[in-house]
Amino acid sequence: MLSGLRRSLMSSATHSKRLVGKVAVVTASTDGIGFAIARKLAQEGARVVVSSRKETRIKEAVRSLTDEGLSVSGVVCHVGKKEDRENLIDKAVKEYGGLDILVSNAAVNPTFGPILETPEQAWDKIYEVNIKAAAMLTASCVPHLAKRGGGSIVYVSSIGGFNPFELLGAYSVSKTALFALTKAVSRECGPKKIRVNCIAPGIIRTKFSEALWSNQPILNHLLDTIPLKRIGEPEDCAGTVSFLCSDEARYITGETIIISGGMQSRL
Ligand code: NAP
Repeated sequence: MLSGLRRSLMSSATHSKRLVGKVAVVTASTDGIGFAIARKLAQEGARVVVSSRKETRIKEAVRSLTDEGLSVSGVVCHVGKKEDRENLIDKAVKEYGGLDILVSNAAVNPTFGPILETPEQAWDKIYEVNIKAAAMLTASCVPHLAKRGGGSIVYVSSIGGFNPFELLGAYSVSKTALFALTKAVSRECGPKKIRVNCIAPGIIRTKFSEALWSNQPILNHLLDTIPLKRIGEPEDCAGTVSFLCSDEARYITGETIIISGGMQSRL
């Protein structure tokens, strides 16, 4: 069920059409933050390829966005699988004739507990999906973006990357790595006119964070740390990403924007 605020954010937003003519791929975009980003990029005029692991969710997402008149197609992409990543890029390039924007949004958190008790398989999975897949997708996309004379890459990190969440240590470490990836890739890609930025959301109302916002005492405790006194909605992240991908952000690269309602990162 959509919250009242989310419904009004979804209906009241204005769209400036800053991304007309652009082609975008967004990973993990059939739900949550990725879906809101895909929708916003398409509302701004981009043609967008949505993706996630499950075919049925992709069909639902594509149907829902095309019903709104948006230019969207979809393909299965488990970002941990090389063939899926390659298919995703191929699909965008074949279907829309090139690629301008990559939003690397997928992440997993297979474990919860003290960092020193994190099982080795959990470290491997977090590394594969949250870090390596972002780097590999970037490497596959860059030649296509360069062919178009430039482009934009955005990584979805987390405020936990600045100050590790208690009991989500390994996940937080993977999100810190994305800050370094942002800086490193921005340096390498700047001369190709490819800008590379990152967002670090705070607590956003999605399935991923449900354990935090569906429990009233935990939610109250969190709200004490958030000056804007609400948790975020996926749409709160989408506008920042579309801005970063647009020409209005043409002199911004290597940066991370925190989207947290003022929640302190304490670094
Ligand atoms: P979400 O609502 O649970 O959405 C997850 C999406 O990811 C679904 O579309 C899911 O579809 C897809 N997915 C899951 N594993 C995948 C994989 N291995 N490959 C491709 N797609 C995959 O999650 P969310 O909260 O929007 O999270 C999105 C990003 O925001 C993550 O990077 C997360 O770390 C970050 N973030 C979230 C919060 C928050 O409070 N929600 C805060 C900070 C950062 P399928 O099941 O079909 O694959």
